[in-house]
Amino acid sequence: MLTKNIGERIDARCTRCGGRYFQINEEFINLVSYEVLAGKISTVSSTDKLKATGRLLGRCRQCGHDWAFRKNPLTS
Ligand SMILES: [Zn+2]
Repeated sequence: MLTKNIGERIDARCTRCGGRYFQINEEFINLVSYEVLAGKISTVSSTDKLKATGRLLGRCRQCGHDWAFRKNPLTS
């Protein structure tokens, strides 16, 4: 799910060194569900769409710092 495109401005900075060279990792989840009936697996299914967890993680390319964004840098 792209919320910003190449060339668009990001207003966030590394929370340790203030650097503007970093990676934003947006977390998505999918669940594979095993339905158990009377002790045996009866069906296996998974959701076809990934769901955003709302967690966005930063990794600084200058100092190596890892952090979690409090505000989504892709939508602000
Ligand atoms: Zn940094």
